Amino acid sequence: MLGLDAAGKTTILYKLHIGEVLSTVPTIGFNVEKVQYKNVVFTVWDPFMLNSVILVFANKQDMKGAMTPAEVGQGLGLFELKNRKWHIQGTCALKGDGLYEGLDWLSSTLKR
Ligand code: GDP
Ligand code: MG
Repeated sequence: MLGLDAAGKTTILYKLHIGEVLSTVPTIGFNVEKVQYKNVVFTVWDPFMLNSVILVFANKQDMKGAMTPAEVGQGLGLFELKNRKWHIQGTCALKGDGLYEGLDWLSSTLKR
């Protein structure tokens, strides 16, 4: 799961009860390489995006002034994205609103 700091990723994972929130690197479907340049070690994730689908959680919909899912989709350029299935789901991770709807889309899309 990728997102800005404090976007609510950890809250979403806890709310969904996906067991422990791991801080280790997930390796399934991901190629992770450590590359050193000068004195900095970069950990590069090559997530093989070719056949992947994208689920976006537009979280914190309970907050006044939150961008709507459509506005988030615009900002991310999702509407220009061709040849890839994507879905944007408004959520409130604190209450759990929208989380399962998003996962329902993901599971039915991956089944096809
Ligand atoms: P992470 O950095 O993406 O893992 O973000 P966290 O899960 O740690 O959440 C950052 C802060 O946002 C915490 O104080 C959460 O309680 C809060 N937060 C997460 N989801 C929501 C939400 O849907 N609505 C509101 N109002 N706050 C949220
Ligand atoms: Mg976190």
